[in-house]
Amino acid sequence: MGSPLQKILQGRGAKKGQGSRIKRGVALLFIVSTWFGLLVFLPEKKPLFWFLLSLSTVLIYSILHFTDKKRAFQVEFLFSIALIIAGTSHALNLPWLNLAYFPFILTTAAFYSPGTVISLSLLMPFLELRTFISGKDVFEETVFSVFLILTAAISILIFNNLRKEKEKAMSSLRSISENAREVMSETGMESLENTEVLSHHFASMLKTDEEIMDMLLTVKQATFADSANLFIPDGDSFHLRCSTWERDDIIIDGRGVLNICVKERKTLLFGELNKKALDAGYIKDLKISSIIAVPLLDGQLPVGVLTVDSSRYHAFTESDRDTARMFSGHIIRILDRERVYSMIKRDVFGLRILKEESANLVSSLDLNVTARKLCEAAEKVTDSQAFIFIRRDRKYELRYHTGELSVDKRLFDLRSTIINFAAVNRQRHYVSDTAGYPIRIMPFKTENIRSVIALPMLYEKQLLGLFVLLSGKKDAFDTFQTGLLEVMCNQASTSIANAKLHAEIEKLATTDGLTGLYNHRTFQEKLSEELRRLNRFSSPISLLIADIDYFKKINDTYGHPAGDLVLKGVANVLRETIRDIDIPARYGGEEFAAVLPGTDKKGAGMIAERLRKSIMNTSFSADGASIKITISIGIATSPLDAETKEELIGRADQALYHAKNGGRNRAVHWGEIK
Ligand code: GH3
Ligand code: MG
Ligand code: MG
Repeated sequence: MGSPLQKILQGRGAKKGQGSRIKRGVALLFIVSTWFGLLVFLPEKKPLFWFLLSLSTVLIYSILHFTDKKRAFQVEFLFSIALIIAGTSHALNLPWLNLAYFPFILTTAAFYSPGTVISLSLLMPFLELRTFISGKDVFEETVFSVFLILTAAISILIFNNLRKEKEKAMSSLRSISENAREVMSETGMESLENTEVLSHHFASMLKTDEEIMDMLLTVKQATFADSANLFIPDGDSFHLRCSTWERDDIIIDGRGVLNICVKERKTLLFGELNKKALDAGYIKDLKISSIIAVPLLDGQLPVGVLTVDSSRYHAFTESDRDTARMFSGHIIRILDRERVYSMIKRDVFGLRILKEESANLVSSLDLNVTARKLCEAAEKVTDSQAFIFIRRDRKYELRYHTGELSVDKRLFDLRSTIINFAAVNRQRHYVSDTAGYPIRIMPFKTENIRSVIALPMLYEKQLLGLFVLLSGKKDAFDTFQTGLLEVMCNQASTSIANAKLHAEIEKLATTDGLTGLYNHRTFQEKLSEELRRLNRFSSPISLLIADIDYFKKINDTYGHPAGDLVLKGVANVLRETIRDIDIPARYGGEEFAAVLPGTDKKGAGMIAERLRKSIMNTSFSADGASIKITISIGIATSPLDAETKEELIGRADQALYHAKNGGRNRAVHWGEIK
């Protein structure tokens, strides 16, 4: 408080207040002088002076009025203009010019608040004060003033109403825009133009049911019917969409009138229905004698039936029938518009799902991830259980599922199942109702499944697998959903094909072409990896290096291709002899290696011995010949014999050398050499 700056500012504020008071004072002086001049006949006597004075007054007040943010001095400004009108009428002696006050007041009411208009209209009589003082034409002047005030009051009322209407319209437009924005974000229509969004929103607000009800009430009155109704086909029967009966326990039977009307696609007119309504295939508990039923056709497709009925006999004439027909046209258009709108809405929803999921479905090179994402995407589109089978030779492996699975196994034969049709025909196979189907749906037991859709996962005409969706509901999938599922399935198929290709390339790069074992480079990598991993847990790791004895002779005797077959056979024996966690590799030409994680010297010795015996006892067949071979094995264990990878390999190699020197067909551990 009280800083020099503040003081200066306050001082300025005070000065400003003072200044404005002076301004007000001067302005007031001008307007009072102008008005006084009017009273003392200055417009007639000294027109130049008075008009200069009055124009200055208008100028001063228009500056004060228009430069002020709050548009202050409204009354003064308007009154100064009125003064000029009055002065002109006096100076030119044109009393009728005073009529200009009326449009003036009206215009004022359009732009200014009621308070301003009332104040102004009350001030107006003061313009003619000299008439009242002089006592001449007092009655006319009074009537004139009263009319002026009345005009002001009426125009205030009118403009106030207009203003309210406008506000209402603006606020409803605002709420529509807000709702539309919500719809936009719900349906992902952000990219659409604002006006388009608004028109969509209006379409959604079209109160279809109310419109139809209006139609029904009108057609009922026009035909003097008891009731008018709109039925919509629903499977084998109908449901009552709208009715002038105000009952909610209406039971319909689709066998009679309604059914004939839809089947024959023609308007029916009956006047002597003796039976009860239900027997006629109509509304239960309703006594009807006359009925008109008009089929509502969209092209050739029946979309509903419009009926009017009466308990009187021969209640309807031909012209009533024409009336009903005419209304049916309007109702078809209403239904059509509703259908188009819901289609647009679904399309937008579908596009959004596709936009979101496409990126997901092609983002991974991992087959399992893609399979999971496809199932998740399907869940957004349908309420169903999803299964993804990937083809493996003649069988199918279940890779991912969100549905119930009644068995433990994962590899299935699809023969004699519904889903196999999709695999055989390489086409979508949809069964909308499985009840009474002679063959089983899945290669395992399923319960309470009514609909099934199987989509082949194809890539360049090659069948990669099947995407299957099951639902407990009959007719669970419509064309919109199947279309979406198909597009997503195709995208996932491309992704799965890529994943498979990727896996194949990786396999080519890491394995040996002849034996399928890891190649030398991968062996080195895996050994490093295992050493690093197991050293951390101070757990042992052993390495076997095996070399076939006198292999050159095999080649020389049986030929190189036979030698290759023997190499393949040895690889198979090696794979079968060691555990799953052990890592077999082709170390060199006819040399093999096995990394045995977690295995100590004793364990490695046992495995090596087992391997040696298996090889010795196996007859390898090549070109009809039965070939017997033996192998020598060198063993080393870390950290017992070696710390580093190079040391470990070197020691296993030395042990192998000793095994060869010691007479071959034996396994030697490096620790036993000395
Ligand atoms: P030993 O090991 O008992 O000392 O005698 P060996 O005759 O097996 O001698 P060595 O290990 O030096 O022989 C390697 C032979 O293996 C040389 C080569 O002809 C053969 N060989 C290497 N790679 C392949 C292969 O891929 N296919 C075939 N068929 N033979 C191979
Ligand atoms: Mg060798
Ligand atoms: Mg050899």
